[in-house]
Amino acid sequence: VADIDAFVKGASEALVAELSEWCAIPSISTDPAYARQVRHSAEHLAGLMETAGLHAEVLSVDGGQPAVYAEWLGAGEGAPTITVYGHHDVQPVDPLELWTTPPFEPAVRDGCLYARGASDDKGQIHFQLAAARHLLAADGGLPVNLKFFVEGEEEAGSPTIDTFLAEHGERLSCDVIFVSDTGMYAADVPTLVTAMRGMAYFEVELRTAASDLHSGEFGGTVPNAVEALARLLSGLKDDDGRIAVPGWYDDVLELTAEERDQFAALPFDREHFRRTAGVSALPGERGWSPLERIGGRPSADVCGLWGGYTGVGSKTVIPAEAHAKVSFRLVSDQDPDRLRPLFERWAVDNAPEGAEVRVRWLHGVKPCRTPLDHPGNQAASRAVARAWGVEPLFTREGGSGPERALSDALGASCVYLGVMLPSDRIHAPNERLDLGNYFNGLRAAAYAYEEFTRPEIAGPLLEGRR
Ligand SMILES: [Zn+2]
Repeated sequence: VADIDAFVKGASEALVAELSEWCAIPSISTDPAYARQVRHSAEHLAGLMETAGLHAEVLSVDGGQPAVYAEWLGAGEGAPTITVYGHHDVQPVDPLELWTTPPFEPAVRDGCLYARGASDDKGQIHFQLAAARHLLAADGGLPVNLKFFVEGEEEAGSPTIDTFLAEHGERLSCDVIFVSDTGMYAADVPTLVTAMRGMAYFEVELRTAASDLHSGEFGGTVPNAVEALARLLSGLKDDDGRIAVPGWYDDVLELTAEERDQFAALPFDREHFRRTAGVSALPGERGWSPLERIGGRPSADVCGLWGGYTGVGSKTVIPAEAHAKVSFRLVSDQDPDRLRPLFERWAVDNAPEGAEVRVRWLHGVKPCRTPLDHPGNQAASRAVARAWGVEPLFTREGGSGPERALSDALGASCVYLGVMLPSDRIHAPNERLDLGNYFNGLRAAAYAYEEFTRPEIAGPLLEGRR
């Protein structure tokens, strides 16, 4: 891949133009009104893949949005097979009036491409595709077998991914999943994600009476549902910020000393972080830094709370029922299915006097983690060091995605190459892609294909084959 720099230099304008054309397709997966555009985006991408020299197909399952599958298997049985994962659907764009240029009219300003999907995630699929296309054209082949799985419903929570993997998982099989949908700490502080958090999401309903009661007739003698729910939820964490549900930490893998060193090495500015969040304090589990708490520790949040009278003026009522949405972020090896009854039992056991609690399960996502010394992480680290000219640090992402589902279905670990920056405003108005990071991502992808074939990396990867 000696001429990758020359390629990037010579083709930069054409690459940005090609990406812009794709970003102009409003593939919003959460709004059924855009279903045709999501399909259009998939077909457009499949066309780009074919042009690059891969065999591409648009695949979908019943009730799901179209995904793109592509492959180039010319490296043969003895070479590692890499499956790049990402998505071509995008978030909605409102409030539209806050965009400087329209979300689906891509524009380049100050070294960035502004468009919905530019960073999350079309740009990140495009640099992988561009790297593969360049190597196929220049070298006539790739050192690895390369597959792409580009989802069309990630922003909608990947509702049919399990069905998709059951139906098409065999074709996606690989030695490493190369996730191209995450971020890095800063453009000059490249980082590699090694874990994503999982999730357990509940709705709590608390009832204290058959119907609302008059506070003059009953005030001072009967339980109040809103107050009871507030009391219950106030006990969710102890004074050290730990989740008080018994057994919640049983399967938590502690951060290793090396992982803590990597977190500590990041130039984290507590004050800047606090100001960015617009908060006056950073409470959390005692004994862990903010970055460790976000990436490596479980967290709990009351996402919504309602009940009683909330209209205009006053109404003297004692509410009979109250509701809350409660979500937990999980870390390896916590399992949402195992935690579900623990929270249900805690909520029922801790219900204040006279309150009846019902817990409804909304959904769960398993956490995903790849050890730092995994050969794939070593390959990605070397590739990023070559592209950025800086040794990357390993970090963890606090969000949740379908990575674990993919990893379980394909029997391979996830390795992450993500170039999103905190300033990219993903999911928000004026989403943008830092083009310097995009081109470095392209270089890193090309280098990674090569690094994956090093004997000390390919050896263990191939040994892991089922
Ligand atoms: Zn994404």
